[in-house]
Amino acid sequence: MAEKRDYYEVLGVEKTATAEEIKKAYRKKAIQYHPDKNPGDKEAEEKFKEAAEAYEVLSDPQKRQRYDQYGFAGMGGAGGFSGGGMTMEDIFTHFGDIFEGAGFDLGDLFGGGGRSRGGQRMRRGSDLRGKVTLTLEEIATGCEKKIKVRRLVECQDCHGTGSADGQTETCPTCKGAGRVTRAQRGIFGMMQVQTECETCGGEGRIIKNKCPKCGGQGVVRAEDVITVTIPAGVAGGMQLTVPGKGNAAPHGGVPGDLLVMIEEEEHKDFIRHDSDLIYNLLLDMPTAVLGGQVQIPTLTGAVKITITPGTQPGKVLRMRGKGLPRIDQYGRRYGEGDLLINVGVYIPEKLNKDEKKLIEQLQNSPNIAPGSANKKNFFQNLFGI
Ligand SMILES: [Zn+2]
Ligand SMILES: [Zn+2]
Repeated sequence: MAEKRDYYEVLGVEKTATAEEIKKAYRKKAIQYHPDKNPGDKEAEEKFKEAAEAYEVLSDPQKRQRYDQYGFAGMGGAGGFSGGGMTMEDIFTHFGDIFEGAGFDLGDLFGGGGRSRGGQRMRRGSDLRGKVTLTLEEIATGCEKKIKVRRLVECQDCHGTGSADGQTETCPTCKGAGRVTRAQRGIFGMMQVQTECETCGGEGRIIKNKCPKCGGQGVVRAEDVITVTIPAGVAGGMQLTVPGKGNAAPHGGVPGDLLVMIEEEEHKDFIRHDSDLIYNLLLDMPTAVLGGQVQIPTLTGAVKITITPGTQPGKVLRMRGKGLPRIDQYGRRYGEGDLLINVGVYIPEKLNKDEKKLIEQLQNSPNIAPGSANKKNFFQNLFGI
């Protein structure tokens, strides 16, 4: 993943810039990298998107404040995870008005309700949803998962055109405009309203000789296996976006996305708390009293830890960096959580005669009863982690 640039740097403005200055700076960048001026230039497209993302944050006082305070980490958390990249369509839908007077027929690229050049409609396929269930081990390292989906894919017979002979004709109803104007009675008298042409569904063209395989739709339903790359550190409830792996759009439009919900499998040893892991360790009485070595599991294998003599139940031991990777909303790592070991002491429930005798002897020994100082320490351990 490429290093993210500071939003102010992207727009080339000072941190103290006014809303008006930010808007002006964005307009300049957006025009410079506009796809109409840079056809087929991937780098320009990236710059165009980068500027839109910066503008999205800096033009919103609340988001700007959060960004100023916390940087990228403040920009979403779990919920914002999938919101990292805006599509071109999003940009034109949200910020299309920035180009007013710039000489671009902006509403016509995708935005403004989805019309492409020439007035015809640019269709977008619908998004699909899927889910993956991950173990904590998989979350710790990141992984690839394959998921099976039934989705609409481009018809191979007609290459997505829907036409058996590759021919389309201009729609006779709307003459290719995709829209029809009709008169409608409104509160101020008769009004001219534009509606989508019903004959061609807004596409401006019709197919005479329909492809028999897809019935003229240009898409067919098929089973597909999609590989989803899961970054390390994700959590249950997050949603990943796999762009372009949703349903294909009829007649060569833009495909939708596949939205993958993350679910977590319960782990036999650990409870997850954000990027920390919690392990409940139950000691036998003699080890808690005398100290010793015990083996505990981690996500990367078992390790031995030392129990100091006189360890109280309720004590929490912390193994730094043995938790899960911490990630920001863009899936970038920034360190690791810890493994917290909750120490408990097992009090035997059933004793044989000999054991009972031993404990009774202990009961009357001078160091066994808790003094008032011990009591204080004990409860501090419990609550003062
Ligand atoms: Zn077809
Ligand atoms: Zn039409």
